[in-house]
Amino acid sequence: MGINTHRCVLVFGGSFDPVHSGHVALVQYFVARLQPQELRLIPTGQPWQKNALVASAEDRIEMLKLALTSEVEVPIVIDQQEIQRAARQQSNYSIDTLNQLRTELGEQASIVFLIGSDQLQNLYTWKDWRQLFTLAHICVATRPGFSIDENSINSEVAKEWSERSATLQEIKLKPAGKTFIAHDLAWDVSATDIRLELKQKQQTTSLIPAKVLDYIQQHHLYR
Ligand code: ATP
Repeated sequence: MGINTHRCVLVFGGSFDPVHSGHVALVQYFVARLQPQELRLIPTGQPWQKNALVASAEDRIEMLKLALTSEVEVPIVIDQQEIQRAARQQSNYSIDTLNQLRTELGEQASIVFLIGSDQLQNLYTWKDWRQLFTLAHICVATRPGFSIDENSINSEVAKEWSERSATLQEIKLKPAGKTFIAHDLAWDVSATDIRLELKQKQQTTSLIPAKVLDYIQQHHLYR
């Protein structure tokens, strides 16, 4: 068995501004069921021309480590390719990120791209979205407020999605091209809500790992 033969890498990108319990739950769900060899976290870079992100890349990376290191029993790699591209004022598309990962990990590795259902609603707007399936599988976690019924998902995406629908066992064994939805996740939490609460009252009732909240308070983030 070659080193890549059964390698499965979970890929999870986001602004993580800050990372919250919805992110942790999504990752735990798929780590438990796919038993991957690696969890690859890919924080987005600051889009040039606009200050879309509040916390620095360094702080977002620290918070990711605090949130996930002791929560999953899988080697975590924090991949800074999107942060580096943004620093060079280059655009960031998931298709480019996954292309780079495929080149790095080889043809055989199962690459599993994780997103929430809000992103499934947007998928039809992504650059070369159909090409994503030649590079990776896509697994979705449902999220309150972001329905996956036929009225909420672009019909082209829905068609492609159902034709590619598979079990997690198939996803683990094949390199790319399959889809799966975890219907039983419903974490009603968003980074936007957390930032708003922290700004208004320096506190949050949202679901956020205690270590991350401590870090935010110690470093006076989101004030
Ligand atoms: P913001 O409120 O700033 O837009 P967010 O809470 O959506 O942030 P991101 O860092 O943008 O968090 O999300 C990264 C990934 O995690 C995306 O694929 C998103 O769909 C997913 N995700 C975020 N929150 C949840 C949640 N509560 N349940 C399921 N998936 C989620």
